Formats: sequence, C-alpha cells, structure tokens
Amino acid sequence: MSDYPTLHLLIDGEKLSVEGRNTEEVINPATGETLASLPHASSADLDRALDAAKRGFREWRTTPADKRAAVLTKAAGLIKERAGEIAQALTREQGKPVGEAKGETIYAAMLLEFYAGECKRLYGRTLVRPEGSRVEIQYHPVGPVAGFAPWNFPTLNVMRKIGGALAAGCSVIVKPSEETPASGIAIVQAMLDAGVPAGAAQCVFGVPSEVSEHLLASPIIRKLTFTGSTAVGKHLAKLAADDLKITTMELGGHGPVLIFSDADVDKALDTMAANKFRNGGQVCVSPTRFLIEDDLFERFRDGFVERAEKIKVGNGLEDGVQMGPMANARGVDGIQNKIADAVEHGGKLLSGGERIGNQGYFHQPTVLSEVPTEAEIMNEEPFGPVAIINPMSGEDAMLEEANRLPYGLAAYAWTQDPARRRRLAAEVEAGMLAINGGSVSAVDAPFGGVKWSGYGSEDGREGVMACMVPKTIHEG
Ligand code: NAD
Repeated sequence: MSDYPTLHLLIDGEKLSVEGRNTEEVINPATGETLASLPHASSADLDRALDAAKRGFREWRTTPADKRAAVLTKAAGLIKERAGEIAQALTREQGKPVGEAKGETIYAAMLLEFYAGECKRLYGRTLVRPEGSRVEIQYHPVGPVAGFAPWNFPTLNVMRKIGGALAAGCSVIVKPSEETPASGIAIVQAMLDAGVPAGAAQCVFGVPSEVSEHLLASPIIRKLTFTGSTAVGKHLAKLAADDLKITTMELGGHGPVLIFSDADVDKALDTMAANKFRNGGQVCVSPTRFLIEDDLFERFRDGFVERAEKIKVGNGLEDGVQMGPMANARGVDGIQNKIADAVEHGGKLLSGGERIGNQGYFHQPTVLSEVPTEAEIMNEEPFGPVAIINPMSGEDAMLEEANRLPYGLAAYAWTQDPARRRRLAAEVEAGMLAINGGSVSAVDAPFGGVKWSGYGSEDGREGVMACMVPKTIHEG
C-alpha cells in the first residue's frame, strides 16, 4: 500500500471518500494485489457535480485570460514538482516503468503550459464592412465539459480531457479510468491547488456506462470528450447526439508502418522496435502492421526479432525494466486469443507469444510474420506487445494495405525519397504521419484521427478551439 494514496472523488472542491458509497478495488497489475478501494459517485454526487460545474463555468469563463493563464501555469509547475510522487502511484496502478510514468506526467504539465499560453491568444476577428457598420466574430467557451479518459496514459489522457477545456474557459467534470484513479485525482488536485475554482475542475468515478449516461443526459454538459475504443466511442457519440452536444472522439487505431527499400534500416529498427513495445503496446498510436518492401523483408524481420528478445520485462518499479505488465487481465486474454487466431490462419510466430509467470499480467514481447489479412489481428487493434511483420511488393500495394482498415490514427513511413514522402503525406489516410521518425505527438501539434479513429483534435491550438464556439455580432 505504500506510496499509493487514499482515493476519493473531487466534487465542488470536496474530497468525498468511500464511506456510504459503492466501491471497487484498484489492482496492481504487476502483483495482482489490491492497492486501495475507490469510491463510486452516487446519483446525488453526480447531480451535485453538475450543479457545481454550472456555477464553476460562470466564474471561470469571466476570469480574465491572463489570470486563467497564470493559474494554469502554476498548476503545471505543481504537477512537475509532484511528478516523482505521481509516477510512483501511476506505475503501481498501471504497470509502466516508473521513468516512463514520470516522463508522461511531465509531458502532461508541458501540455498544460502550452494551453496556458493559448488562453491569451483566443482571438476573434472583425470583418471588412462600410463605415458605421461592423461584424465581429468572437469565440466563447462552449460550456461545462464531460471528459472520459482511459487507463493507458493515466496522467496525460486526463490532461488532454481537461487542459484545453480549462484554457478555453470551460468547467470540466472528468472521469479518469477506474483502473488508474490516483493519477487522475493528482492532476485535478493540482488544478485546484493552483486556484482553478472548485466547480471548474471536478473528478468522479463509477460504473462507466452509468456515469456517462447520467452526465450526458444533463443539458448542463455542452461538450463530450472521450478517449477509448471505437465501439464505446460510437455509443457515447449517439448519447451526446440526443442533446446535440459537441464531441471530440479519440478512438482506436491500427498503425501501419511502411518500410521502403531505401530506408535507413538500422535507425528504423531501433526506433520502431522501442516504439512498438513502449507501454506494452497499449498505445492508441502504437505501430502494429509493419509493411516491408520485399528486398528488405528478411533483414528487417530478423533485426526486429533480435531487438524484441532483448527487451527487459518486469515490475515497472525495478531498475532497468523496459516493459511492465499489461494493465489488466482482459488485455492479456485479448492478445493471447489474437495470437492463436493469427497462427491458425497461417501466420508465423517468430518470438514470444506467451504470458510470463502466474503473478500479475505479464506478457512476452511478440513478433508475428506473414500474417494473412483474414486474421483478426490484421483487422482489430491488438493493444498489446505484438508486432506483425509482413512482406509487401511496391508502394501502391503498401499504400493500399495501409489504408485498408476503417481506422486512421497514426501511420509511419521510412524512406529517403523526398518525392515519395510528399506522395505519402497526400495519400495515407491518418490523422498523423511520422516520416523517418517514431513520434506523432507534440504539445503544439493537433493529435487525433480520421475515420473510425474519431474526430476532433486534442493538443495544439486545435485542442483549445475544440472547446470554443463562434458568436457573430452584426452591428448596423
Ligand atoms: P473500453 O473501450 O471498454 O474502455 C476504454 C475506456 O473507456 C476505459 O477507461 C473505460 O473506463 C471507458 N469506458 C468504457 N465504457 C464507457 C462508457 N459507457 N462511458 C464512459 N466511459 C467508458 O476498452 P478497454 O477494455 O479498456 O480497452 C480495450 C480497447 O480500448 C483497446 O483495445 C483499444 O482499442 C481501446 N483503447 C483505446 C485507447 C486510446 O488511447 N485511444 C485507450 C484505451 C483503450
């Protein structure tokens, strides 16, 4: 239990504990042990949060932009100061190596710093009109926001739900994942400690479908922002549509990686193998389908297997560990089923493929090759430490395969040819494309997908504007 905090709701600035509430246990995925009990918000708690969000919105939207910027900058500073402590809890509840947990938390603070700066740049514009008349376009915060964040990046995802909303002047009720609650509570607490009004940043937990139905049924909530699976995203978008709430949906992906014969192969291998197994592959922008031009196939495949086999798997609190356990038992079951299905369809299991030990949710880094498109894993996001390495013949076939699925979040390509890079930028159906690199995220760049990977952006200027609506003033 050490280094893991007591859990509570944060409603109207008050910490509401487990007493008198339904609870669930939070599990350490490295050991299977119970870390703490998490209180669920009752229906009355949620109504109280809605009421506070309405008041909090009035107060926060009329707070001058430079004051909002100062408060959010202060919150970012607090998160940085507390990052070591937050990371200890994050690793205990989610599993990733503690260094990565700290890096994620500092990145969340950097995103908030960027958003704080944007508070001062929420400009409108004035249109050209004859003297005596005037048309002005103003941007206003949309209203109270409901944000539902998943467990794979427990601090960053919560920041993505609340940072842009607060910068825009909205109030926000966030429901972090019940599997990783301490990280989310810490982020919201830093906002309150820095001076965000009690009703403007609140944190609730419960049965996810019950919380979302309750909050989305309320006319007080004007925007929904969700990160998670496409299936749940479609369901929540329908609920939001009943009240025409605006929505941001950051959903699943199935990242294609196009490796052309003119690629810097060693750099591509070093970058993409590390990227694949980061956070046990439980990353929406994880590279998954490696499409390798024929003449490079064997070299890339063997180099990838060599790197996968060197990855040190273990408890994320231990030194030198590069990959922790999967975050939950259903994740392990899911990839075990997908690996078995891939092999049944004729795919080759080159490395890994098994659970590790019988304590916690550890799984080997796994490499499959020559997996036919009929296999489930070629169509559904594995969300685990599995790479699929397939040979391909030529750019047209690689592009066709890259765009085959209904998903379009992140894509990766490695080539030295500038003309080809331009063609890929035009043709790859994805919200983000990394060329000769592994990163698709930066605090000042929009992050989001197309097709079934969702719509709307987080991060960058777009992340704030997604929480604002235009109002046009016509003066005669
Ligand atoms: P899931 O879709 O059931 O849950 C994802 C998150 O959504 C969880 O935090 C959960 O608490 C929340 N959620 C679920 N139902 C909800 C509802 N009705 N209302 C509000 N919130 C709800 O999936 P999972 O089993 O946790 O993860 C499996 C799949 O989800 C993965 O394979 C992946 O495709 C997707 N996923 C994507 C991301 C991402 O970053 N885009 C993150 C986590 C999970």
